[in-house]
Amino acid sequence: MSAKLIDGKQTARESNARVAAAVAGLKASHGIVPGLTVVLVGEDPASKVYVASKEREAKAAGMNSTAHRLPATATQDEVLALVRRLNADASVHGILVQLPLPRQVDAQAVIEALDPDKDVDGFHTINTGRLWGQGGGLVPCTPQGSMLLLRQAVERPAGAHAVVVGRSMIVGKPVAALLLAADCTVTVAHSKSRDLPGICRGADILIAAVGRPEMIRGGWVKPGAVVIDVGINRTAEGKLVGDVAFAEAAQVAGAITPVPGGVGPMTIACLLRNTVIAACRQHGKPVPAL
Ligand code: NDP
Repeated sequence: MSAKLIDGKQTARESNARVAAAVAGLKASHGIVPGLTVVLVGEDPASKVYVASKEREAKAAGMNSTAHRLPATATQDEVLALVRRLNADASVHGILVQLPLPRQVDAQAVIEALDPDKDVDGFHTINTGRLWGQGGGLVPCTPQGSMLLLRQAVERPAGAHAVVVGRSMIVGKPVAALLLAADCTVTVAHSKSRDLPGICRGADILIAAVGRPEMIRGGWVKPGAVVIDVGINRTAEGKLVGDVAFAEAAQVAGAITPVPGGVGPMTIACLLRNTVIAACRQHGKPVPAL
């Protein structure tokens, strides 16, 4: 392997330490305790694990952290009523509705019901608009984490050709907006793109957010490129792999994120960052360095 390994676990630990210091500072100086609330509807096993991790890590950073658990039979009106109650609760600065929601609940309607200033997942249309416009909104966590990892390898990405493979609302599109805001020249590829290997070979920065195990081969990577692999896929043997064939790509890339231990740990770290940012803005306080 010749590529530099970009360590997501370490970067997340460092970010969490800055968040904990910011939380302690807000308490000491202003008596503000950032509060994160997660809403879980139903019994999806993976969602239960994610919600428990979010609750635990928010507490570890010194925040108020609560979870509201509704049964799988909850109606759309019940979920919306809970969201409205949390919107009105001044002790709650960040609300995250864990996806997926049961079929009878319209996820987009629930997201749009959130107070955009408490939407720490950054999925509300107002936050999408801010992301593509003048900024100042809450930025989706996985794309934000991907950018923090990119900055570990490239201090100034301006002018670089960035290729994003994937155009989902959760990863591909927001990460493309962030790369554009960082003055990269951005190409967004997807399932209908022609000559994907050729497009990828033109990338100084390659972001993979496809959801297909090891689809991006070493021969698709430009020598020296920075590769950020957002994919998390479980193989038939139960192994976790990314969207990039790591062993091959690491021979060619300049820097690369592993899976696991790359983008994955950054997602909750950025959720905690967003909660501090939301709390500061709601109280009209400057956001500390995070
Ligand atoms: P989606 O399924 O929503 O989007 C996948 C995207 O990849 C689509 O835009 C699709 O194109 C594109 N695509 C699919 N197949 C191909 C192909 N053969 N060639 C080119 N493009 C293709 O996935 P997400 O964005 O939600 O997630 C992507 C990956 O990131 C997954 O592995 C997921 O597990 C992981 N993930 C990781 C997170 C983390 O915390 N690290 C958080 C969120 C996601 P089209 O639009 O044309 O259909």
